[in-house]
Amino acid sequence: MTAQVIDGKAMGAIIEKGLTDEAKAMEKRGRAPHLVVVIVGDDAASHVYVRNKQRACERIGIKSTRYDLPSTSNPSDLIDLVDNLNKDVGVDGILVQSPLPAGFDEISITEMIDPKKDVDGFHPVNLGRIVTGKVDGLLPCTPSAVIHMLESTGERLAGKKALVVGRSRIVGMPTALLLAQKGVDATVTISHSRSSDLQGLCLDSDIIVAAVGRPGMIKSDWVKSGAIVIDVGINRIETEGGSKLVGDVEKGASDRASWMTPVPGGVGPMTIAMLMRNTIRAAGDEV
Ligand code: NAP
Repeated sequence: MTAQVIDGKAMGAIIEKGLTDEAKAMEKRGRAPHLVVVIVGDDAASHVYVRNKQRACERIGIKSTRYDLPSTSNPSDLIDLVDNLNKDVGVDGILVQSPLPAGFDEISITEMIDPKKDVDGFHPVNLGRIVTGKVDGLLPCTPSAVIHMLESTGERLAGKKALVVGRSRIVGMPTALLLAQKGVDATVTISHSRSSDLQGLCLDSDIIVAAVGRPGMIKSDWVKSGAIVIDVGINRIETEGGSKLVGDVEKGASDRASWMTPVPGGVGPMTIAMLMRNTIRAAGDEV
């Protein structure tokens, strides 16, 4: 079996097309949606991510403003900026790029953002809504991308055994909650660094969502024949010619899976599309 590719780039482009029409309509009615991205310090990967998010805004017609704070800035500078952005009625979405430099408390900064402007979907109010079954608000972008990609296969997800490898606040845990929600109806297992027999858990699963951050950690022969594999991991590895991005799942797993996401070009572009969707939702007061 060779897995069919779940093409995040193509799916993201279709979603962006629909959002472009919505952004245009909003601009006609008053003003374009407005996303503010704040970046602190000079983490190279973060600068690439922020640039990609700004480019997506340009494609769609979302106004984007970027604040660059130096790595020498104090947490209080960031707190004051977020406070002002919360009060600014001309700002619809606020995103503080992670990771923040040492000395900054990411969780308390996230909690400061007005939940209605929290386009990352990481505020406890927005994460908590998932537990109550409210899934039409500002959902965390990567988990939401994972669900879209699974649904795009057209396979029946209800009753399937889904394994989420990783339990982070921003990816693994909310993904597991979304998979278990009514309407998706998967039977979910969450594994983490203290879990035993990951191989056995993988082999028993119809769906594997890998979100760990370790290149090729899920071996090809751990994947059950016909399983759907969503590889969230983005890992840069050195090669003879330089470096390249790889996922958490060995590429050879596509010989056993029925569907699989590529890395790059899978969950990454869909995550950006979900961020754009959240910004339009926030601007439309749908949250
Ligand atoms: P994270 O906060 O470091 O969490 C990693 C998770 O993996 C933790 O829950 C950890 O368990 C678990 N883990 C570590 N070793 C394990 C093992 N041997 N077996 C099972 N679980 C293990 O990372 P994250 O922010 O969730 O990101 C995960 C990956 O996704 C990274 O590669 C990141 O770059 C990527 N990512 C991609 C996108 C995208 O747009 N495609 C977005 C976000 C993140 P413990 O809780 O026990 O420590």
